[in-house]
Amino acid sequence: MSSIRTAVVTGSSSGIGHAIAERLAAAGINIVLNGIEPVEQIEPMRREMSERHGVGVIYDPANLMKADGVRSLIAAAEAAFGKVDVLVNNAGIQFVSHIEDFPDEKWEAILSLNLSAAFYATKSVIAGMKARKWGRIINIASAHGLVASPFKSAYVSAKHGILGLTKTVALEAAEHGVTVNAICPGYVWTPMVEKQIPDTASSRGLTEEQVVRDVLLAAQPTKTFVTVEQLAELTAFLTTDAAASITGASLSVDGGWTAH
Ligand code: NAD
Repeated sequence: MSSIRTAVVTGSSSGIGHAIAERLAAAGINIVLNGIEPVEQIEPMRREMSERHGVGVIYDPANLMKADGVRSLIAAAEAAFGKVDVLVNNAGIQFVSHIEDFPDEKWEAILSLNLSAAFYATKSVIAGMKARKWGRIINIASAHGLVASPFKSAYVSAKHGILGLTKTVALEAAEHGVTVNAICPGYVWTPMVEKQIPDTASSRGLTEEQVVRDVLLAAQPTKTFVTVEQLAELTAFLTTDAAASITGASLSVDGGWTAH
């Protein structure tokens, strides 16, 4: 079996996941990109990443809302590269509403993608990682895994849940060379954040500028957005042997938000 490692990064056609995939490719790791965009749209990104870093890169547009979609993504990774050494559960969506108006289908969708997909992916890769006595599972949670904000009942529930999953699997895998950690970012400037500004503005009766200043960055003492590169660098560190004793951790990268 190839000694070159392989990483599956869910939701890596955009934002944080894309930066993580790029950084792991730069470390010489084969990459499985995933997202909901069509293959033709992601093909230039896939080719460029592969050529720039000299690693194998495939893109699989599996819909991770369903268990079968998650399982097909892991199967595609194993078919292309033989194994999965690094799993980054990153795909996620957001919806902002008072709970009394929160659509049932939005609750189900957020729980499915932001929490259940990580469970199914972890379940699919963990036996192989244990057998090879090496593996890294990194869950992109959120500061909302540790604290709440109003109007985000589904997201906050899913992110609190994924910290529980992280700790549980870390304990189960601890003696097998497999670490499981969560990264808890504060606000990062990505399409996900950009998209929720209008809804937050209408939920709270604010202008979009007020949402950025008084809602998003109000919670973040550094008053700056976290960058995708900062998250990618921490993820890459967690894949190294220097990080072998970090497991079951929730690592905050939130500009001091949860120090409040
Ligand atoms: P993004 O909107 O930029 O990217 C989301 C990615 O998920 C895209 O690649 C998209 O194609 C993919 N995706 C969406 N639905 C999918 C589905 N059904 N199946 C498979 N893939 C799907 O988001 P982002 O801001 O980069 O967020 C990535 C992760 O980081 C999420 O889990 C999010 O909760 C978390 N996070 C983001 C922030 C932030 O401020 N941006 C803060 C904390 C945590």
